[in-house]
Amino acid sequence: MFNIVIFGPPGSGKGTQSKLIIEEYDLMHLSTGDILRGEMARKTPLGLEAKKLIEKGELVPDDIVIEMVKNKIDENLDQKGFIFDGFPRTCEQAEALDRLLEERNTTISVMISLEVEEDELVKRLLKRAEEEGRQDDNLDVIKNRIKVYNDVTCKVADYYGKTGRHRPVDGSGDIEKIFDRICGAINQEKASA
Ligand code: UDP
Ligand code: MG
Repeated sequence: MFNIVIFGPPGSGKGTQSKLIIEEYDLMHLSTGDILRGEMARKTPLGLEAKKLIEKGELVPDDIVIEMVKNKIDENLDQKGFIFDGFPRTCEQAEALDRLLEERNTTISVMISLEVEEDELVKRLLKRAEEEGRQDDNLDVIKNRIKVYNDVTCKVADYYGKTGRHRPVDGSGDIEKIFDRICGAINQEKASA
């Protein structure tokens, strides 16, 4: 398997780029945010619980998302690999993911970290609010999501950095240009594997 984490603040383009990456490298897209929104839409107990947190821009607890990811991995062990989008968001989640994958004789090869200025993030998320009507894309919640990213989630980059797996990529400009930069980083990783 070849597994990647796509990382970055809310609005940095993780979902958009994941769609292009899965086509190019034949990977499975595993977005914990999408799974949680699916649970919310179906009003499952997990969805109802998650809704309260997501609407405030807070994180869903580690044990819940880790269990979700574990199940998704085990249902798809026949895949060529995964792209993890929106997960891990804490160092505890990153450690758990490493353990899960190690137990299944695989690993995260690289973490692609999309770097975008805060003003641009807010602009993109407000635009998405108009297009998709996501409840958590309003200014107050956006501000808190960015705060949670800066306070907690950004440390996950150091976690991967310690093992030489963190690849920062400029996430500003054209979608196609950003995708080229990402492919450059992934291909370099593949060549050295
Ligand atoms: N979320 C979470 N853990 C996850 C994924 C999502 O707690 O593993 C929650 C969190 O409240 C976050 C929201 O779901 O603000 C939306 O996450 P998503 O990754 O879809 O948003 P993005 O960061 O891509 O805008
Ligand atoms: Mg997303």
